[in-house]
Amino acid sequence: MSRAGSGVSRLRASIPLREDLVELAGYHSPQVSVEVRLNTNESPFPPPASWLEELVSLARQVEYHRYPDRGYVALRSAVAAHHGVEPEMVFCANGSNEAIQCLLLAYGGPGRTAAVFEPTYALHSHISRLTGTAVHRGWRDGEFAVTRECVDSVLSSSAPAVTFFCSPNNPTGRSEDPEVVGYALASAPGLVVVDEAYGQFGRWSALDLMGDAAGSAGERLVVLRTFSKTWSMAACRLGYLIGPPEVVAACDSVALPYHLNSLTQAAGIAALAHVEEMEERVALIIAERERIERSLTELDVETWSSDANFLLFRPRSMPARVLWEALVEESVLLRDCSSWPGLEGCLRVTVGTAEENTRFLRALARILHALAGPTVDTAAQSTGGQEGGA
Ligand SMILES: *Cc1c(COP(=O)(O)O)cnc(C)c1O
Repeated sequence: MSRAGSGVSRLRASIPLREDLVELAGYHSPQVSVEVRLNTNESPFPPPASWLEELVSLARQVEYHRYPDRGYVALRSAVAAHHGVEPEMVFCANGSNEAIQCLLLAYGGPGRTAAVFEPTYALHSHISRLTGTAVHRGWRDGEFAVTRECVDSVLSSSAPAVTFFCSPNNPTGRSEDPEVVGYALASAPGLVVVDEAYGQFGRWSALDLMGDAAGSAGERLVVLRTFSKTWSMAACRLGYLIGPPEVVAACDSVALPYHLNSLTQAAGIAALAHVEEMEERVALIIAERERIERSLTELDVETWSSDANFLLFRPRSMPARVLWEALVEESVLLRDCSSWPGLEGCLRVTVGTAEENTRFLRALARILHALAGPTVDTAAQSTGGQEGGA
């Protein structure tokens, strides 16, 4: 954040930056070099070898002197077929973040508002501001759930052109309540966007509401998905939205020409032939998540149950930042969420391979026990921690 800040002020000295961007800090997870990287919610597994072979063979067929298929017809149909929707309901982009940007270019902008429910994925409000869209921040309840009351409070104080949900919610981990999303669909004046970056880990999908939400409510629902997490393809930068054809057409019209390069299109097409392998990986990660969850309950930390591939927790006996740094010393990198709104004292850990998770859990236990000191009985320590202590 400070690096982004100093870059901005250097620029400001020469050519004045857009005023509304001056105060805007960048969204960057530090890329520290460590052995165990559990900070950005990627899959710990590479994609299947057969996917890579297929991609290589598709890459050989590309005519590199020509622009890519602007309408990415084959990829669009493959994504549509995967979800059982019409191709006119699919918009693909360089990561779901670009899909969010296109949505906000088309439906946000000066004089319009996007609503979010904090704590949630920071990029929803960040990209809103980048596109000149005002942000209305609603708040989740004490258990990080969006309730009807949260929705009412947001809708009565703003008329958002776009209302963001995140299911499962990053960084708190729980799926949104389908009943509340349905309620928002029935009452919000603008688009209701459900970001399902972790959808395959979740308990339900807002795509299930797409059929039911007929009439005007159905014209407002947009679901975001990405290949970056469950598909093990973060390096490819490919994501998409499913929504009403008018919304897809609007996104097509604000996207840059030929925004999806031929290799990205090929990567997505090849991936969709490997659904089973993806699902196997999701199952492995869920099993590991449950193991981490159980181990955390034996340590002096507060945890929340998760429907995703990450877990939020709060150490009771030391400040989050101190723990984060001690873990980096052990070559384990987590996400420090402690300065995010509503997440004081919290860290987020991404589920890694079994070996990585074991290294994380051992390092964590070592650090927390070392703090307790050799004279303190560890069992007593784990039940006697004071909330907000240290
Ligand atoms: C990781 C993540 C994304 C993914 O963004 P891409 O641009 O597709 O890599 C989107 N939404 C949420 C909530 C995420 O956590």
